[in-house]
Amino acid sequence: MMSASSKKRSGGTRPLKANRRPASTPKADARLLDAEKFLLPTYKRPAVVMSHGRGAYVYDSTGKKYLDFLGGIAVNALGHAHPRIVKVICREAARAIHLSNLYHNEFQGPLARKLAEWSGLDRVFFTNSGTEAIDGAMKLARLVGRAAEEPPGAPAKKYRFLALENSFHGRTFGAISVTSTEKYRLPFAPVVPGVEFVRFNDVADLEAKMDGTVCAILLETVQGEGGIYPVSEAFWNRARALATQHGSLLIADEIQCGLGRTGRNFAYQKFSSKPDILLIAKPLAAGLPLGAILTTEAVASRVSPGMHGTTFGGGPLVCAVALEFLEIVEDEKLLENIRLRGAELREGLAKLAARFDFIREIRAEGLMVGVELSVEGAPFVNEALQRGLLINCTHDFTLRFLPPFIITRAQVREFLRLLELVLANASKQASVPDSGKPEAPQGVAQAAARG
Ligand code: PLP
Repeated sequence: MMSASSKKRSGGTRPLKANRRPASTPKADARLLDAEKFLLPTYKRPAVVMSHGRGAYVYDSTGKKYLDFLGGIAVNALGHAHPRIVKVICREAARAIHLSNLYHNEFQGPLARKLAEWSGLDRVFFTNSGTEAIDGAMKLARLVGRAAEEPPGAPAKKYRFLALENSFHGRTFGAISVTSTEKYRLPFAPVVPGVEFVRFNDVADLEAKMDGTVCAILLETVQGEGGIYPVSEAFWNRARALATQHGSLLIADEIQCGLGRTGRNFAYQKFSSKPDILLIAKPLAAGLPLGAILTTEAVASRVSPGMHGTTFGGGPLVCAVALEFLEIVEDEKLLENIRLRGAELREGLAKLAARFDFIREIRAEGLMVGVELSVEGAPFVNEALQRGLLINCTHDFTLRFLPPFIITRAQVREFLRLLELVLANASKQASVPDSGKPEAPQGVAQAAARG
């Protein structure tokens, strides 16, 4: 049991004392030196140590405040230190953080039921991350594709995956195999065999590459890392029909665009059909690591105990938090907020696009927004950081905004004011590199700002 004083401290919504250290101290510098010396150099980071957050704001160790329009890359959908999330974490951390998937826990079943209600799918498997959900889904597709007369171990006839150009699905071997960006895949070759990439939203290319050897078509309903590109209705419908016709699975990766981000529970719900497998992660447990594979009864019927598993996935603490997250989205009517704030954001960005001619295109669904520039985006990200605004840039030229679902009207206005200053100042340093600007994925309409 926690003591009364520790309960009070950890259960409240104020930042922990250690995080309030006034701070550009030698200690902060030492942390940067440690990071530089001891971490694997997988990220290029600015020399700032982030310390804590509150709502839509993040603070660094010097006390500087940032408006968070990156949201931990679509993870912090409730912002930071949401009182209900903090309360559940404290309550459950004092009960059971981990128990083992060899036993039932109190929250896994109810969370699976809630996700089934949100999605219209039947069965759930919990993972620790998005990439693990992708790999699990690829295993399921191979399993379902294997005919009864094909013995385990023999190469199955139905083994190919069709993924999309400009896709990003994660960093494990399965996920990089279906990720088109070469810099994420080629250094690690050979990757999982049997993957072919289809031109984005190109129905004819999909039809040409589809046949009875395909076990799954895998797509992001809205491409995130690729620069906010929604799959078209025509492409989705054809992919659904072809998958059904050939006995293949349609897998929707909604790890970034799902769970409310586009203003619907899931982005595919704007279409009239469902995928066979839906993958989610990022915001699911409000910042704690949790992902999930959702699927149909038909797929689930091919799975038996021992075929797949995980030590950590779906533990009691993360599942309790995820249940709370979904209830908060409902209780606080956040889907409506996402739609309203998303519309204000698009309207404001359209005005900025009229003023700054280096804005090529605005692509948006709900609170998933990409602003494509004709110049490199990095100087804009740096300028934003200086001015107390967190954003990022994907594919070198697209500024990406993924604000929390709780963002207010006033904060959207604050963002637009800051962004205007950023655009005016950073454009002086921005340039088109010698290599030139890469072309947008084929089939993407220009100026396709969506609701
Ligand atoms: N799929 C999509 C669409 C993503 O955006 C990401 C991460 O950015 C992943 C998969 C991988 O998720 P994770 O980083 O949790 O492994």
